[in-house]
Amino acid sequence: MSQPHYDAVIVGSGPNGLSAAILMQRAGLRTLLLEAKPTLGGGLRSAELTLPGFVHDICSAIHPLAVGSPFFQNLPLADFGLEFITPPIAAAHPFDDGTAALLTGSVNETARLLGADAHAYQHLMAPLVRDWPALAPDVLGPLRFPKNPLALARFGLDALPPVTHLAKQFQTQSVRGLLAGMAAHSIQPLTNLATSAIALVLLAVGHVHGWPIPKGGSQTIAHSLAGYYRSIGGEIETERRVRSLGDLPRSRVVLFDLIPRQLLKLLGEKLSSVYRWQLERYRYGPGVFKIDWALNGPIPFTNPDVRQAGTVHLGNTVEEITAAEQATYVGQHPDRPFVLLAQQSIYDPTRAPEGKQTAWAYCHVPNGSTVDMTGAIEQQVERFAPGFRDFILARHTMNTVQMEAYNPNYVGGDINGGIIDIGQLYTRPAVTLSPYRMGAAGLYICSSATPPGGGVHGMCGYHAARVALRDSFGLDVPVTLR
Ligand SMILES: Cc1cc2nc3c(=O)[nH]c(=O)nc-3n(C[C@H](O)[C@H](O)[C@H](O)COP(=O)(O)OP(=O)(O)OC[C@H]3O[C@@H](n4cnc5c(N)ncnc54)[C@H](O)[C@@H]3O)c2cc1C
Repeated sequence: MSQPHYDAVIVGSGPNGLSAAILMQRAGLRTLLLEAKPTLGGGLRSAELTLPGFVHDICSAIHPLAVGSPFFQNLPLADFGLEFITPPIAAAHPFDDGTAALLTGSVNETARLLGADAHAYQHLMAPLVRDWPALAPDVLGPLRFPKNPLALARFGLDALPPVTHLAKQFQTQSVRGLLAGMAAHSIQPLTNLATSAIALVLLAVGHVHGWPIPKGGSQTIAHSLAGYYRSIGGEIETERRVRSLGDLPRSRVVLFDLIPRQLLKLLGEKLSSVYRWQLERYRYGPGVFKIDWALNGPIPFTNPDVRQAGTVHLGNTVEEITAAEQATYVGQHPDRPFVLLAQQSIYDPTRAPEGKQTAWAYCHVPNGSTVDMTGAIEQQVERFAPGFRDFILARHTMNTVQMEAYNPNYVGGDINGGIIDIGQLYTRPAVTLSPYRMGAAGLYICSSATPPGGGVHGMCGYHAARVALRDSFGLDVPVTLR
């Protein structure tokens, strides 16, 4: 019988596919990464979507999880062109009365601006920020015996309740709104258990590392990961869409940076009936409607601090955001959706011609929605930045169907690879001893449909590759996560 050509083949070059490929290659194996599109990166691509000279992030834009990723921190990505720019105000949350909550690098400074809740905010965040470096590998990984059980237990007490419950511990609309905006990144009802977890993680990472913007566009994260991978001998082939196992060269293991819907089509009978049954029942969450703008100048936010923020949460109070997220979840399109907005070009002049700006935004919509939310999103920006529309030179939009056509991992526009609620937090994509094994020899899943879920951190790929290395090659990876 002929020998396998590769030790490992990785299908899909998103941040998780690239991370898995790097770890396998670093272990001294012969690996090949296959990508369907002409360019690498999955959710990490940038392009001139509107006008020449305006560089937009097609998917991810803001990278607290990338800079906070215990795996990425071990890679020499700066040597391969990655430069993070950290805005002094990571995120701003304006309110109708002209005030704004601001997330900065310092817990004390953020707290000082929160008035009557200053002490309570410090009490919540200071221990978490102190413990974060030790906690990160446990929080950004599968369910297992934690490396830091005490710190994780402390985190769990605040993280497990719904964010609407956590918000009630504060008196001011500032902290309540700030918490709701953070938790809304998880794209699910804010009354769900563990929605506090995502809020606390994003705040903690903001205080420890900031919410940085990659100079030149998110694509540079993918380029630096791919550059490093090639430098250690990894092989990459683009325009190689894998439709069946027959499309793959012979290898000992295959890692798929794909979500369950594609895996069912691709692997079918190869999977056990129990595993298939679970993948068929895997749940997808609401989708997103996204806009990129080419602008004639900076967004004229009423509050001057908001003009300085890399990311802006537009949704006003906890009550309003909770109502909008609930409506989306039950299939409605709120008139005032929660809008996530990034203004990268304020800090990265490579994104737009001189004197011009770009901005990126999305709101949540029901899974599979084709409703055009341009008007609703722009109205939310106008609400906090009157005159915004006068600055628009051009816009580019993507509804959920276009999002899925762009990348089949975004089923119905779900950008997290499946809803990350308590029922799927650790059991994504199925209830198994390890979420990365697919129950068939040599086959692994490494996408955001595994713990810890969506976002650019590479940790799904890291954990999947570790399991594959141990199972199939008897190797325990010599990577100490910081
Ligand atoms: C609009 C939007 C905004 C976002 N904003 C942020 C943000 O600001 N910050 C953040 O951290 N995260 C953000 N995300 C989420 C983040 O982009 C994803 O969670 C992340 O990219 C998932 O990485 P992955 O490696 O699991 O898969 P993906 O990035 O989806 O990569 C999968 C890759 O596999 C390829 N592929 C698919 N099928 C095949 C096949 N059959 N054969 C070969 N190749 C195939 C795809 O082309 C793709 O390159 C955003 C996502 C979207 C869509």
